[in-house]
Amino acid sequence: MNRKPIFAANWKMNKGPSETEDFARALLPHVQHQTFPCDLVIAPPFVSLAKAAELFGNVTAVALAAQNCSEYDAGAYTGEVSAMMLKEFYVHYVILGHSERRAIYGETDAVINAKMLKAREINLKPIFCIGETLEEREGGKLEEVLRRQVTKGLEGFSDKDLSETVIAYEPVWAIGTGVTATAEQAQEAHAFVRSLIGETFGADAAARIRIQYGGSVKPGNAAELMACPDIDGALIGGAALEASSFLQIIENGTKD
Ligand code: PEP
Repeated sequence: MNRKPIFAANWKMNKGPSETEDFARALLPHVQHQTFPCDLVIAPPFVSLAKAAELFGNVTAVALAAQNCSEYDAGAYTGEVSAMMLKEFYVHYVILGHSERRAIYGETDAVINAKMLKAREINLKPIFCIGETLEEREGGKLEEVLRRQVTKGLEGFSDKDLSETVIAYEPVWAIGTGVTATAEQAQEAHAFVRSLIGETFGADAAARIRIQYGGSVKPGNAAELMACPDIDGALIGGAALEASSFLQIIENGTKD
């Protein structure tokens, strides 16, 4: 199965509109009127989406993602942003279930599932993040945690919903720490996640779904990780804050 890799830049709480413009000026000459063997996605903070839409809106190689959305449509939810509002900014993807949302903001599997369903209701593509903590891995709970996150997060998903979803396997101990999972550890977890998809959605869906790796991906480790048969791109935090490093990861990660 030939899966198109997908590389997504998660800026987290970095880059307001003016820094978004700086990044775009550096990236645009390399992506305008270019084709790539992979999908490129940029996820700025909410307040920078308008600027990103203005600068990347007509660049076919680049899609925009939001970093979160509400599970509700509208109403008295101070500080929240609905999935529908995101559509006005040419947003096609939304990152959901990121470990920082789970750990810092207490998002449960049930909340994440509600957001996943809401995103699909209006045709946004979820980048669905899963991954274990170091304690869970060392306690032999890796498979149990991934099984729970995948099963609960995708509850109520149709085959069509799944086909519009990207999974990001991000071991929590590798996010923002500079510690990367070895290619062997990452491949093993990705193969397991793919098998979980197979159990619920069947072999074809399992073979088709794209599973990104996330956790301290940088230009120096991208090639080795992306060479693994079940790794289909990367979700990148720190190393995607500079256009040059984001591009280098993509180049190194898509070389034959
Ligand atoms: C992330 O934000 O999902 C991430 C993987 O961050 P980093 O690349 O900095 O570890």
